[in-house]
Amino acid sequence: MKFGGSSLESPDAIDRVCGIIERSSTTPLVVVSAFGGTTDILTEAMLGDPGNGLALIRKLRQETISLTRNAVKSSHNDDAVEYVKSRFEFIEKEIKKLDPDSEDYAIMLDEIICCGELVSSYVMTQALLSRKQNAVFLDARNIMLTTNDRGAASALFEPTRKKLEKDVIPKLKAGRTVVLGGFIGSSMTTNVSTTLGRGGSDFSATFFGGAIGAEEVQIWTDVDGVMTTDPTLINTARNLPQLSFTEASELAYFGGRVLHPSTILPAIEHDVPVRVLNSSYPDLAGTVISNKAEESETVVKAIVYKEDITLIDIHSTRMLMASGYLSTIFDVFEKHKTPVDMVSTSEVSVSLTIDETESLKTILEELRVFTEVEAIPGKAIVCVVGEGIRYTQGIAAKVFKALEGVRIRMISLGASRVNIGFVVDEDELEKAVRQLHDTFFGEE
Ligand code: ADP
Ligand code: ASP
Ligand code: MG
Repeated sequence: MKFGGSSLESPDAIDRVCGIIERSSTTPLVVVSAFGGTTDILTEAMLGDPGNGLALIRKLRQETISLTRNAVKSSHNDDAVEYVKSRFEFIEKEIKKLDPDSEDYAIMLDEIICCGELVSSYVMTQALLSRKQNAVFLDARNIMLTTNDRGAASALFEPTRKKLEKDVIPKLKAGRTVVLGGFIGSSMTTNVSTTLGRGGSDFSATFFGGAIGAEEVQIWTDVDGVMTTDPTLINTARNLPQLSFTEASELAYFGGRVLHPSTILPAIEHDVPVRVLNSSYPDLAGTVISNKAEESETVVKAIVYKEDITLIDIHSTRMLMASGYLSTIFDVFEKHKTPVDMVSTSEVSVSLTIDETESLKTILEELRVFTEVEAIPGKAIVCVVGEGIRYTQGIAAKVFKALEGVRIRMISLGASRVNIGFVVDEDELEKAVRQLHDTFFGEE
């Protein structure tokens, strides 16, 4: 059972989550994100205006202590508050010392970010104990073993599985609810703290679920499951009762924030169904994601989007018909560890999109050696997702008709043929999503 930060924002929310865990028919492995907003604030304190960092941390410390005091009752209250204080002492000490030029700067960023999940998992355990539940906290960094990459390490399956087998499964079998922080781990080779990339707790949950042979992984969040589109953008979005693994993967990859992009991979590999549920309305059925891609009346299941995209147009007549052209281009992106999301090519030009622009300047310099290249920021990817797309004729026509009046910069029909994606200007994003949603799901 994974609970996101949005489900852990107030004492009442934490109380509801404790109730959900209490009512579980089997002893669950609980995975929690940091309390709502914590990771954003820690990141801002470390990477934002240096003069403001400590003030942000002190404010967060006060809020977290107050949340803890109100969420954890009885004798467990002091223990929980002491833990919060000790973690914040560590954060304050380290933030004062942070030096972008020092060798271990990137390691320290991860060490500090990890505190968000350490605090929430510890406090949640104490909240459960104060309700007389048999719960136990484990430092997730001792369970989730990863590569030694900063900011977005990859989880290592076999070493993590062994840790779960030794330290977690016996406790679950003894009826003890184990509480772990999601998103955090430690490097197998250097033993320092690592993180799995923003929103990574969803992935921790399916990864652990796959490794312990869970019956089901439940992702508890602040909406009624996976919806036809982001309900914060389009308020007529509807809940989707079921999705195939492929649909859910495409949806998560192309911006459905409700699931981290890698969440579905372990679920597919170990064939564990994933259920997305609303922690405020636990009795709703939510969305079941499984290998049973049931024939559905609905061809299109969802419309998702990803903002802050940079479109890169590459053009070279010199390379006309030359073999190895594409690989030379992609080698540059690979060398700078910049993932490419969408690609479309013609004989002499390639358009592609990226969302990580840290190395963009160097990438452009290297590409300019052999091509003409232009980077255009401020774009958004919109994706229409559904298994039915691959079997139904005329979907593309319907999609593009719905987009009348929207300027389309690039188009791609994925190889899996369960999505049609395109790039638009960010200021036309809402219009594009709304017109598509109205076409496929009606205005009400
Ligand atoms: P958590 O803190 O539980 O991880 P997130 O904020 O990461 O929650 O994800 C939930 C949010 O995802 C929702 O509040 C909603 O705004 C957003 N979202 C985007 N696309 C979708 C979609 N297709 N279905 C449901 N939610 C979506
Ligand atoms: N707390 C982390 C984040 O905000 C991980 C997560 O919430 O899944 O990105
Ligand atoms: Mg999330």
